Parts: sequence; C-alpha cells; structure tokens
Amino acid sequence: MVLYAPQPFTVFDKGVSINTGPLGFSCKVNLFGISEKIYEFLPLFTFKGAKDEKIIIPGESKTENVSIPNLGSFVFFGSKDAVEETENLQLIIDDDFPQSIQKHIAPTVKRVMAYYDKNLRHAIEKKLMIQMTYETDTTVQYRIGGNAQNNQFSGKARGSVAEEDVEELVLMNKGFLAHEMAHIWQVKLGEDNMRWYAEGGAELLSYRAMIDMDIMKEDYLINRINECFTESKTELEKTSLVAPQIQGYPQLNYTAGMLTLIAAEFATAADGTRDDIFKIDRELGKTSIDSLNNFPQEAFNKTLISLGATQESVSAIEYFIHNKHENPHKAYMNLFNKTGVKYEVNEDRLLIKD
Ligand SMILES: [Zn+2]
Repeated sequence: MVLYAPQPFTVFDKGVSINTGPLGFSCKVNLFGISEKIYEFLPLFTFKGAKDEKIIIPGESKTENVSIPNLGSFVFFGSKDAVEETENLQLIIDDDFPQSIQKHIAPTVKRVMAYYDKNLRHAIEKKLMIQMTYETDTTVQYRIGGNAQNNQFSGKARGSVAEEDVEELVLMNKGFLAHEMAHIWQVKLGEDNMRWYAEGGAELLSYRAMIDMDIMKEDYLINRINECFTESKTELEKTSLVAPQIQGYPQLNYTAGMLTLIAAEFATAADGTRDDIFKIDRELGKTSIDSLNNFPQEAFNKTLISLGATQESVSAIEYFIHNKHENPHKAYMNLFNKTGVKYEVNEDRLLIKD
C-alpha cells in the first residue's frame, strides 16, 4: 500500500499553494495476484493556516472537514489581498508577474470563459480559480507551463519579457489560458490512452476560439498546422497516438492529436455539414459517463457517425490513432483522403484549405 500525502506545489510572493491531487490518497492493491487495482479514497481535509493567513479552497468557504474531489485541488494559503475575486472568478497572480502580460490575464479569462460557456457547456458551478506564479529568470525568454484540474488551473511562468517581443508573448500567454481553460470545459474522455483527445482537443478549441474572438489571426493556426505536421512525422514512426507520453513523445498528443481532430471535423461533412470541434465535443458530452470512461474510442467513433461521418472515415481515423506508421507522411495522406480533408502538400509544407 502506498500513501501519497499532499505535495507542496507552488510558492507565491504572498503565499503558498499545495496540490491535493491528482495522486491524492490512493493505494495499489494486488489481490492474490489476480488483479491489480488502484483504490481511491476520498479523505476529509482540515487545513490550518498560520496567524493572519487566509486559506482558499476552490468553491469552499470552510477550511475544516472539506472533501476534495478525486482529481484534487490547488489550495492556497496566504494573504487575502493576493486574490482578485469576482462573481465567478478567483484570480491569484504573483506580484512580480510582468505587467505587460499580467494586465491581459483577467480580461482574456473573462472573455474565454463566456465563449466556452456559450459554445461548449456551462462548466463552472461555483468559481474558476486561477493561480499564476512568476519566477524572474533573465537567462531565458518568457515561457509558461501549467495544468488544469477540476475548476482550476495553475500557470508557472518565468523568463524575461523584451519590449519588442511583448505582443507575441502576450498572444502566447493568451493561448496558454485558452488551452488550460479548454481542459476544464471539454468532455473528459477516457484516461491516459486518450490524452490525444484531451490535448489535441484543447489545442484546437483554443485556436478556434481565439480566431473567432479576433484575438488571433487565422494565419497563426495555418502555420501551427504545418508545424504539427512536420514535427509529428518523425515521432509517428516510433509510436502510436495511444499514450505516446509513456514512450517519451508527449508532444504527439498536441500535434498529431490536433491534426486527427481536424480530420474528424472534415469527416463529419459527409452528410453535407461540417461540424467543428465544439460541436464534436458537445455531441460527445451526450454520451454516458460509463461509456466515456470505459469505452472512450467507441464513444468517439459513435459521436462522429452521429454527426454524419461514414464508417470508412471513422475506421481510417481509428487506424491512424492506434498504429505507429512506417511512413507517417503516407499515413497522413491516407487519413486526409479517407476523411475528405481538403489539402495541398508542396514539398513538405501542408496547407489545409477551408
Ligand atoms: Zn493541456
């Protein structure tokens, strides 16, 4: 039996945040060598802060006997004035976060939130909590990474922001916000073996949303599609899209994952109407939780069929996902041809047409 305790997670200028998940408390039990299962417990947490310290648990006002969902939460201990709070948002941003980027965070989050609410589903019951830390590091250019769980996400940024790069870095930061938020709004499909849907989907949802909201120009996605095509080809020779992160190729979920979903969008056009990733995700959301968890590929396939895709195109998508490819270029062409993607390849450059 292995017990996991909450791990210290992030240090802010005005507090500290711990992550109670995703491991939470669980134990791995081997039953007579027959089956190995992870048992998860739902412990009740009691948080005690230092004197004058405010504890903020997403969606909770109390700090004792709080039950935190399986996926865990980022619980913040610190000064109350570190938190900007609105009706549906709790925002914690480090004091030294570069101002030129920081000032775009709250307005972008509010817009994206309204957009996803309208185009995906109403995902946030209480408040969306965002925690953004910043570490000064003048040796690298500004970069940001992070992750989402439940109704929260955490972003860790570092690096310097040069005057001439501000515009591009602000856009990158907005992309990060829209990507992490997409994880909260999108349907939870399967586990680690379906990460291509989670990541490829979050990528495509965030690009499409930003283009639709005029935050980003269409060209940006066109270039990104070509990058994904080029970058993913060498990796698809080595592993399939089923949990490529285990083989050491986590980027494939984002790159080939997004291209697969673009092919899926085109596949739905067989009935005369092409449905976008928003429609696909909404339609997938009508599937039972049991099917989404236990039969994710089947749930995805059925969704495409219900949106007008042919069995042949759905099989081609599934084949593409489940195999590594000796000739990834050819595998892509096959996927695009079978799903009706309108494209051009010049030399090695891919252009998908609308
Ligand atoms: Zn992601």
